[in-house]
Amino acid sequence: MDRYRVKPGTVVRLKDWEPGDTSAYSGGKEQAPQELDRLRQSLVTLQETLWAEKRRSVLVILQAMDTGGKDGTISHVLTGLNPQGVYVQGFGVPSTEELEHDYLWRAHEHTPQRGKIGVFNRSYYEDVLVVRVHELVPKDVWSRRYDHINAFERLLSDEGTTVLKFFLNISKAEQKQRLEERLAQTDKRWKFNPDDLAERRLWDKYQEAYEVVLSRTSTEYAPWYIVPSDHKWYRNLVVSSALANTMQRMDLQVPKITFDPQKVRID
Ligand code: AMP
Ligand code: MG
Repeated sequence: MDRYRVKPGTVVRLKDWEPGDTSAYSGGKEQAPQELDRLRQSLVTLQETLWAEKRRSVLVILQAMDTGGKDGTISHVLTGLNPQGVYVQGFGVPSTEELEHDYLWRAHEHTPQRGKIGVFNRSYYEDVLVVRVHELVPKDVWSRRYDHINAFERLLSDEGTTVLKFFLNISKAEQKQRLEERLAQTDKRWKFNPDDLAERRLWDKYQEAYEVVLSRTSTEYAPWYIVPSDHKWYRNLVVSSALANTMQRMDLQVPKITFDPQKVRID
């Protein structure tokens, strides 16, 4: 999945990243479910070992335009894992109390404890995305945040949290289709938010804001992946295998036993 990782220092132009790409998996949509199952089995074992080791944690950050598939990714990629070891937190419009603190305050308490996989459905990146696009704070305030975020993720990484970040990259045409589906299907209609249409009109501004995020905050210790997400099956495979690969590289170890099993007698 290295091809989708943003190398630190790259200037990202989203027009160079194809949302409909499926080239890293030749099995196609038909064989994708089996492949996802295979990846899931590795994730189950990796998660068990992470839990047993209880020294480190993993933080997955999901960002996307509306209908980009954050919810779907969470349910497809994490299904089958031990629920005790996974922690999902969503970030919506900040409350009055949250606004009375710095923007990282509300996120820090939800970072995963040792042994767990934490997932952020949206995150403090909104504070340089929606906040930048709508100028919710002045430019001299949001423009300093990229450095804070890099420093914050450095802190997490130094203290034992492996951070990986996914931008689910859909095309504007695919978003139109998904919004239309939400409207047309009675069981999906609850997900339709008329405000999303106003955001859609700001598509180019959001793409620009994402380009800056992806260019400035992809680091060795907290890389961004730009996930081709027009095809849901492919998106799931990319996220799942990037997560599995990352956890494999952590070289997780179950704790060493401090007794001699030969000498244990169970009467
Ligand atoms: P949803 O993910 O559909 O539940 O929507 C959450 C909404 O909260 C989105 O419209 C986000 O843009 C918005 N949101 C999240 N974080 C912030 C933030 N820091 N400031 C303003 N709006 C935010
Ligand atoms: Mg929404």
